[in-house]
Amino acid sequence: MDITYQAECDIKRRLKQLRTYTSTPGKGVTRLPFSEEAKGAVAYLKAEMESAGLKTFVDLVGNVRGVLPAENVDAPTIIMGSHYDTVKSGGEYDGIAGVVCAVSVAELLAQSGIPRKYNLEIIAFNDEEGMMFGSGCLGSKALTGQIDRHYIEHLTDENGISIREWMLRWGSDPEKIDTLKLDMEKVKAFFEIHIEQGPVLDEKKYELGIVTGIVGLLRCMATIEGRADHAGTTPMSMRQDTINIASKVISRLDGLADREQNGTVATCGFIRAYPNAMNVIASKTEFTMDIRSISDDSVDRVQEEVWALLDEHTAKCGASCDVDIKLRQPAVRMSGELVERLAGKCREHDYKYMEMVSGAAHDAMVFADKVDTVMVFVPSRNGRSHCPEEHSEYADLAKAVQIVFDVMTDMMVE
Ligand SMILES: [Zn+2]
Repeated sequence: MDITYQAECDIKRRLKQLRTYTSTPGKGVTRLPFSEEAKGAVAYLKAEMESAGLKTFVDLVGNVRGVLPAENVDAPTIIMGSHYDTVKSGGEYDGIAGVVCAVSVAELLAQSGIPRKYNLEIIAFNDEEGMMFGSGCLGSKALTGQIDRHYIEHLTDENGISIREWMLRWGSDPEKIDTLKLDMEKVKAFFEIHIEQGPVLDEKKYELGIVTGIVGLLRCMATIEGRADHAGTTPMSMRQDTINIASKVISRLDGLADREQNGTVATCGFIRAYPNAMNVIASKTEFTMDIRSISDDSVDRVQEEVWALLDEHTAKCGASCDVDIKLRQPAVRMSGELVERLAGKCREHDYKYMEMVSGAAHDAMVFADKVDTVMVFVPSRNGRSHCPEEHSEYADLAKAVQIVFDVMTDMMVE
């Protein structure tokens, strides 16, 4: 049987059902962690994993997990998965497409009857997006031992309800959070299929992307403090105009990123000025910077330049500046061997593919420095994502399933 045809049908059927678990029908998919919609998706995924031949359970933080056992159950485990939560009014592919692809891979392996040297565990991760608690990758971080009791008490939603409280409402025992950690010695590899969420594959008419690395990231908030004065009576030379200083720094971001010549990107996505009035010089301006690159040195260089610019422009007029670093995440490399294996399968099937860097964070990033990890990207139409217009082709998702299935089949019998 043509496995891509079967995979395509199963992916389509499952995604069509899963998009109904939303709190915003008609306005994209909204499936926040621990919500009623999440419960619906969890029950459905669990049932589908079981029908695919997996032994399932839902863990303490709401990850849905299904195991296809090896011949020797003490054997190491290959993990494959992605997330089932969404942003607010997001699309019907981000995360969940990778989950149903993983279920297809497991189902095809179970049906193939080939002996299995490794356990295969399919995981639908909870709370990758960080929509509720501002952090993200809760499910994958819990499994890699990066979540403790303090973390789940400390992080809260906008109503001040902690992850711990949500876990209790979900019916889990937060005191056991430490028991979730997997023994990484017994994890053979991690695979994730995900939509690209950018325009490159669609624009260049590639069918698949093999991810070679995930960018490092610096996210920070700069606060410039100056002085509120009259916009008419204060000479230009006597101002501490914080919007003016911020604009000088922000306008340099694109040039500093371009200068690195390696795809580095820098974004100011948020500005807030005080008092924010037409005839008052702003006494305070806050703005964010998000700097990403596959080279950690590039992130550091852009950061240093920005810091120097802030110092220079604030010193000139006697204003001051403080930068709060919200997140600093190093770049990670995917397994070169797995990249090469997947690329080889693309060539065998004559799929048009490219190797590429991921500019977005994913659950795979959490595993990448611990086990051999790889990701496959599927084109996103017009590069749209995190919006109802998000679209990928079922046929492309099925091609991703095909190459991962092929590589896993090889690994299972080697
Ligand atoms: Zn995602």
